[in-house]
Amino acid sequence: MIKRTHGRVHSPGLVRRWLEQLRGREQMLVRGPADLPLLLVSYPPGGQTVAEELRDVWLHTLPSLHSSVVDPYREMLLRLPALVVVLLWRRNLCTCLGHHHPRGTESRLTRRLAGDVGSEVGEIDLAWESIRRWRPQPLSSLAAGAKFELLHFRIAMLTVLLHELEHLAYPDRRERAVRHSSDEFYTEVLSELLRQEGAGAFGMAASL
Ligand SMILES: [Zn+2]
Ligand SMILES: [Zn+2]
Repeated sequence: MIKRTHGRVHSPGLVRRWLEQLRGREQMLVRGPADLPLLLVSYPPGGQTVAEELRDVWLHTLPSLHSSVVDPYREMLLRLPALVVVLLWRRNLCTCLGHHHPRGTESRLTRRLAGDVGSEVGEIDLAWESIRRWRPQPLSSLAAGAKFELLHFRIAMLTVLLHELEHLAYPDRRERAVRHSSDEFYTEVLSELLRQEGAGAFGMAASL
């Protein structure tokens, strides 16, 4: 998990989660390149734009990144279950940006799905309003303004997604190591995409 402050492991927002389930959620299946797991993005009312954003970073941004940036994650991606459920929430009561859900703690949706497909299905959650406000490093002078906000959001979503996927792939890996990879990833992707500014990196986020 990524927290702004360190704390114990906990069950985030169960009551709110239950209430949101009552109001109904929608699902979006995101099928990427064959070596990446399928993502089943589940989102509450109001979350569709964010789900689409997540789909775009998974399908377009991730494959477009320089291989040196993605290489540290390649082996991890291959270890994941073929299908991973991504539960989107506006925010978690615990203020975490996301969690991975260890085996046996998945939602009913995921457990039912695993039964249906007859194989392991992973599950993580991401809290998009907290991710939007997350600032993993001091902003440079380049990194300011509305355009940056959009770019930051895309990269931060991808960063936290990969962070939680790494926890899923390596349940015993320490937070510090997982956090180290994701901090590096954010920094490198940010500088790469800032270099590409004007080459379309910003345009894709225009709907946010
Ligand atoms: Zn973590
Ligand atoms: Zn939490």
